[in-house]
Amino acid sequence: MEVIVAKKCGFCPGVTNAISIAEKLLADKGNIYSLGPIIHNPDVVESFANKGLKTVNSIDEIEEGSTVLIRSHGAAPAQIEQLKAKGAKIVDATCVLVKRLQQKAIDLEKEGYEVVVIGDKNHPEVRGVVGCVKNVAVIASKDDLCNLPKDKKLGIVCQTTKGPELFGEVVGEIARGGFKELKVINTLCKETVHRQESAVELCKNVDIMFVLGGLQSANTHRLVELCKKHNNQTFHLQNWKEFDKSILFGKAVAGVTAGASTPQWVINEFVENLKAFKG
Ligand code: SF4
Repeated sequence: MEVIVAKKCGFCPGVTNAISIAEKLLADKGNIYSLGPIIHNPDVVESFANKGLKTVNSIDEIEEGSTVLIRSHGAAPAQIEQLKAKGAKIVDATCVLVKRLQQKAIDLEKEGYEVVVIGDKNHPEVRGVVGCVKNVAVIASKDDLCNLPKDKKLGIVCQTTKGPELFGEVVGEIARGGFKELKVINTLCKETVHRQESAVELCKNVDIMFVLGGLQSANTHRLVELCKKHNNQTFHLQNWKEFDKSILFGKAVAGVTAGASTPQWVINEFVENLKAFKG
């Protein structure tokens, strides 16, 4: 089968940095904690668990005085304070773009704006940003706009992994809402945008499109959504093992892309197997 891989896909610089910090820490210290999965990819989480990285969802599960890795999604200031109170040695692998988003939200609040985050309220990156400011609204789509206070000045930022379409659509709708003053900061991650553009370009020219990535990965879900708009033969998979090969019958050219938390070895294994597939 002919296989074409998207020009931009797989690990982004923020994830590469967090992975390399975790590897060095594990080599130096043995056992460490990660507050939440280091990335949204179960294969990677499992391989790190085997090397001594304990993933916990609550600070209560962390032993006093331990080393704790803050993943690329970042953490809220209150969580950092709680960790310090437990005597934790904190190693911060928050992506620089997530740090920038947090700082922009803090600055907007200092300037007197009510902060609006366009994103998913349960995503860890968004929870971290929400924890940086006092008065904040999270807007997942234009349907949530009725929650915004009409009499306030709004300072708008966006979850880094959202697409420019959603950001533009929500900001456009807010602009129509008669708010007193708006300040919009573009906090989208260019790496994500480039992955989305190259996935869309590729999916239009193939018989079947595969998006590889964890089921919890927001940026992978976004790639799937975008590709489905242009190619209804788009499938979200975590790896080669898990899919029904009968969907390949009658297809000559396959496209492959992958979320920012999908390791290169998963992509390579998938592509090699797909190339060798004989229906
Ligand atoms: S997707 Fe972008 S913002 Fe998120 S970790 Fe990667 S580089 Fe950073």
